Amino acid sequence: MTVTTATPRPTYTLKGATGDWEVVMGLEVHAQIATKAKLFSGASTQYGAEPNSNVSLVDAAMPGMLPVINEACVEQAVRTGLGLKAQINLFSRFDRKNYFYPDLPQGYQISQFAHPIVGEGEMMVDVEPAHGGEAYSFTVGIERLHLEQDAGKSIHDMAPDATYVDLNRSGVALMEIVSKPHIRTPLEAAAYVRKLRSIVVALGTCDGDMEKGNLRADVNVSVCRPGDYEKFIETGDFGHLGTRCEIKNMNSFRFIQQASEYEAKRQIEILEGGGEVDQETRLFDTVTGETRSMRSKEDAHDYRYFPDPDLLPLEIEQSYVDKIKASLPELPDEKRARFVADYGLSSYDAGVLTAEADKAEFFEAVAKGRDNRLSANWVSQELFGYLNREDVALADSPVSASALGGLIDLISDQTISGKIAKTVFALMIETGDEAGVIVEREGLKQVTDTGAIEAVVDEIIAANPEQVAQVQAQKAEGHAKPKALGWFVGQVMKGSGGKANPQAVNEILKAKLGL
Ligand code: ADP
Ligand code: MG
Repeated sequence: MTVTTATPRPTYTLKGATGDWEVVMGLEVHAQIATKAKLFSGASTQYGAEPNSNVSLVDAAMPGMLPVINEACVEQAVRTGLGLKAQINLFSRFDRKNYFYPDLPQGYQISQFAHPIVGEGEMMVDVEPAHGGEAYSFTVGIERLHLEQDAGKSIHDMAPDATYVDLNRSGVALMEIVSKPHIRTPLEAAAYVRKLRSIVVALGTCDGDMEKGNLRADVNVSVCRPGDYEKFIETGDFGHLGTRCEIKNMNSFRFIQQASEYEAKRQIEILEGGGEVDQETRLFDTVTGETRSMRSKEDAHDYRYFPDPDLLPLEIEQSYVDKIKASLPELPDEKRARFVADYGLSSYDAGVLTAEADKAEFFEAVAKGRDNRLSANWVSQELFGYLNREDVALADSPVSASALGGLIDLISDQTISGKIAKTVFALMIETGDEAGVIVEREGLKQVTDTGAIEAVVDEIIAANPEQVAQVQAQKAEGHAKPKALGWFVGQVMKGSGGKANPQAVNEILKAKLGL
């Protein structure tokens, strides 16, 4: 597996007292499968139900209960694997991962260890640096995707002297998606999760609701010296990389970034002080912005993995996989490529518009039969800009696709200028009225009547002999487009309340000033 980069990928360097350091990251994402029932029982997966109401005898691990695989979960895992362009393993197997915890009544988690259902794949990640850096894309190798059960939930804050256990989550199906350590900056880590989320949401295999914990990431971070990562890529030898720490259960893009940044600096400090990084599992404290140790890292043998004797190996047919493949929806990368090809958009603009399915759909509704670039600008700059600033979901947008289309039509047929359109847009948001209604009511129609514009031009030329002289001087100096002309354009636009057709203003001014 090689890492390919389309556009130059910036190197992220941390300056230490003893020289430069770089960061290496690999992520394990737990995505709850979108299904009605749990992985091995018929109990509901509904969120927010009364505690312990979605618990079957299997989930409560009553003696003698036997797990039965939910085929819908298998299908979702295969679908996700195909979306990650990964190898689908026709043979996979369930293993018991043994450990004790009060919210794990079985005393083991059923997972897939040696034979996961999905093997190696890859994913394109798009990074948009916050402070004006150039956007770029890179490829992350996927190590595997396996099926496993979620545990229940221990509740420590309901009573001062007791812990309660809610088993509603116990047995819910998860996909654990493990990346290769191909991620090199905290921003890339957040971008990776963002892209993975957009893929599973597009596939309909996970709802991607991070606030509910339905998609959460364990972030592995290590640091190394410049050049060491390249040696690792060449040889595949992890020995070139530093010891990693795993930060558990991150469910926000911002926290993923903050936590990995903090963690890298913490490790550098330890190493520069002559110490060693302990391989451990850490938690991110969102209040202090620091990570702290949760437990030292267990090894696989501590869990005493062995094949679950209650479950047969999972064998699927290639024809089953092919059938799922044929039903895959258009994924974000494909949609992006289509937007570039069909609408003539830049890869960056297409990326913004295709990051989420509803945004893409909105754009396509607006762009249909209209100027593509103009539509893209109005959708992503003006409307999405407004929704972002005000933290409004697209579904709640005060301006519908057809209403925005109506505004764009008025620009295209020159009823209003692009500048006036911004005023109209603000009024559309405020009043909920259609663009045409607002333009009529406010008298915002563009003045293309040359007679009316000429009158304003004459007035302004007569009142400003000094500026006229300046234009003439600049012309005499050989300037094809005298700067002072811009001043006149501004004045005329102002004089017309912004309604004059800018092109007509330019032409009339040039004629009257003899340019
Ligand atoms: P485990 O199951 O013990 O967590 P894995 O081999 O499955 O171990 O790796 C877990 C994650 O750690 C993977 O996403 C992998 O890419 C990442 N990883 C492995 N080595 C490093 C390293 N040196 N630095 C950063 N991440 C790493
Ligand atoms: Mg792990």
